[in-house]
Amino acid sequence: MFEGLHAVPQDPILAMLASYREDTHPQKIDLGIGVYKNDQGDTPIMRAVQVAEARLLATETTKSYTAPAGSPVYNERVAKLVFGSDHPVLNDKRVVSAQTPGGCGALRMAAEFLRGCNEDSKVWVSTPTWANHMPLLGGAGLEICMYPYYDHDNKNIDFQAMLDALESAVAGDIVLLHGCCHNPSGADLNKEQWHAIADLMERKGLIPFVDMAYQGLGAGIDEDAYGLRMLAARFPEMVAATSCSKNFGLYRERTGTLFIVAATPEQAANAGSQLFSKIRSHYSMPPSHGAAIVETILGDTELSQTWLDELAVMRNRIQGLRQSLVAKIRDSAIDRDFSFIEQQFGMFSFLGITSAQVEALRSQHSIYMIDSSRMNVAGLNDECMDYFVSALGEVLRA
Ligand code: PMP
Repeated sequence: MFEGLHAVPQDPILAMLASYREDTHPQKIDLGIGVYKNDQGDTPIMRAVQVAEARLLATETTKSYTAPAGSPVYNERVAKLVFGSDHPVLNDKRVVSAQTPGGCGALRMAAEFLRGCNEDSKVWVSTPTWANHMPLLGGAGLEICMYPYYDHDNKNIDFQAMLDALESAVAGDIVLLHGCCHNPSGADLNKEQWHAIADLMERKGLIPFVDMAYQGLGAGIDEDAYGLRMLAARFPEMVAATSCSKNFGLYRERTGTLFIVAATPEQAANAGSQLFSKIRSHYSMPPSHGAAIVETILGDTELSQTWLDELAVMRNRIQGLRQSLVAKIRDSAIDRDFSFIEQQFGMFSFLGITSAQVEALRSQHSIYMIDSSRMNVAGLNDECMDYFVSALGEVLRA
């Protein structure tokens, strides 16, 4: 039965990481994989996480089963982080939350839930979007439609084209929006655009679905959640998938959350029972350790402050790198405007060079990024910046 199988092509980002590891160039730079890196190029365990882990090790008494929804205390604390502590949907008990295996688990279970609500639902996603959105959402049976989003010529959102495309969505269709730090473009909706999209979705009876994987890494915890919180205040129903992979640095611990907002507390309870039954039939219940760490941090004022301070260092480092990259390019012989990079948010931006130029950076200068020219800005540091800018200049002149 297995003899007819052929190998699935390796994920291009993972394949690139393998070549990067084998590369012996002393100035090699990895701008590919989407993890935060510090000045030394490391992805360290955050201090608040280490303290919480030590506390858990000393106090945990059981590894017995939890529940499909995971820890209720984690769910409550993360809900306050995401929606803000006094959001009407929380006060009105219209939100059902589930701790999930990462943001991926939240996205997939959201898709399973939505498909269970209406098997004809379509989900609209941005062009481009994070590549894994397609298998995560499409794999649950949702039909995927695309709306234009990033305009590579203008290095910005083509907002009118986005609105025009969504005019052809029909009532009950779902619209996936990146809460902040759009992956792969770094181009985020501004407040007016969030409101204009909300007006359109409201008028057409569309369901908002927010994927927020980078809360706190764009402009700040509250700023990054602006769109999500505004939609939750306006819409009777929505879903949101969030992740603690980046902002708590818990990547491999698989810690995320799915929120379903329903029109009434009764409907939320029913939605929860549907969701938990889906979870039971997929992975039964989420892994516990990462969520226990987050729960510990968010339940302790001092630890929360330590975490927020560390997160601010990460956010400011990324913004600082964006600014110094643009400044160094401006001061170099490169005669091209890259100022869009400092207007964008989060770890990613498209450099906007051709795939041949990406290949030249890789083969001639050992600088690695994916073919679309999406770069992880956090992979840069003060030491390698000059090398990067001079290599970029060379491939642009070639
Ligand atoms: N959504 C987006 C847009 C992402 O970039 C990511 C991580 N790369 C995720 C969701 C989920 O990440 P994880 O499952 O690791 O929490």
